[in-house]
Amino acid sequence: MAPTSRTTTATELDAGASDLPARNAEAPRSDASLTSSEIMTKYSFEFFPPRTDKGRENLQNTWRKLAVHAPEYFSVTFGAGGSTMEGTFDTVKAISEDGGAAATPHISCISATREGVNGLLQRYREVGINRLVVLRGDVPSGMYSPGEFRYANELVSFIRAEHGQHFHISVAAYPEVHPQAKSASEDLDNFVRKVEAGADVAITQYFFNADGYFDFLQRARQAGVNIPIVPGIMPITNYAQLARFSDACGAEIPRWLRLQLADLESRDAAALAELGQRVVSELCQRLIAGGVDELHFYTLNKALPSQQIIAQLS
Ligand code: FAD
Repeated sequence: MAPTSRTTTATELDAGASDLPARNAEAPRSDASLTSSEIMTKYSFEFFPPRTDKGRENLQNTWRKLAVHAPEYFSVTFGAGGSTMEGTFDTVKAISEDGGAAATPHISCISATREGVNGLLQRYREVGINRLVVLRGDVPSGMYSPGEFRYANELVSFIRAEHGQHFHISVAAYPEVHPQAKSASEDLDNFVRKVEAGADVAITQYFFNADGYFDFLQRARQAGVNIPIVPGIMPITNYAQLARFSDACGAEIPRWLRLQLADLESRDAAALAELGQRVVSELCQRLIAGGVDELHFYTLNKALPSQQIIAQLS
């Protein structure tokens, strides 16, 4: 059953709601057309930094459309090794200046130095940014210098030591286990270490199996993790791309779904989009029924797929 009260959802009770930072408490809701489900469920949306003027224009249209859902924040990914550093910074600044929702840069360890991180965070502070998604990142092929941080927990600790509580920090979580982890239990231990280093909230890798999320949530709570663990939601619109991402990040596409998507890919794009929308909407409904009160959408810079799912949640 969906939670009936915004103030006491299962996730918040479970996560120690009284410890939630004020910015998590309630998003401003001025649009009278919001549904009751939307009033209870909080959203955030993730973008990647566009490389072209056309891409920048498209993304601006996207965040303006998504702003109607009164998101907690818009986040912008960071190419490991700093490959998108200026693109991420410029996109975050543009979102921030447009005033739709808190702009939140991702920042990663690969090739990063203490001095470089501090310089970047100082620039973010100067343009009013106070949220971060802190990651290790993945090593891009052909370029790798290890940098001064090995894992995300070290970067979180460094940011806390240098910047105190200025930044609200999100970290990544893996209900289906990070692909490079030695075991599920070691991955959980590493996640706990990252939380203890000072994370305020975790966002999960995307998944299509709600049971895996709830199992991870339970294991994390048993391990003493009290911060919110927000499901990352990947709308399905393109099977080849999804399969490529999933192979790389270890997110399982269940066989029944994979085979149907593969079948539809070449002959019926509309049916594929309809199936994807139904499956992901039902996943979100299960999560909300189980007490989840916030969803983070991997938008790939498109508004419509996330909006179609949100429309099904009413
Ligand atoms: P970590 O938490 O450091 O974990 C990485 C691996 O090392 C895991 O297997 C973990 O078990 C292990 N480990 C961690 N700590 C230790 C330790 N102390 N000793 C031994 N082993 C350890 N990538 C990008 O490049 N840019 C982005 O913008 C980006 N955004 C993302 C946003 C979200 C919400 C998510 C879920 C992922 C994102 N990623 C991004 C991908 C992410 O960088 C990769 O999944 C990466 O492989 C791991 O990053 P992490 O921060 O989880 O790493």
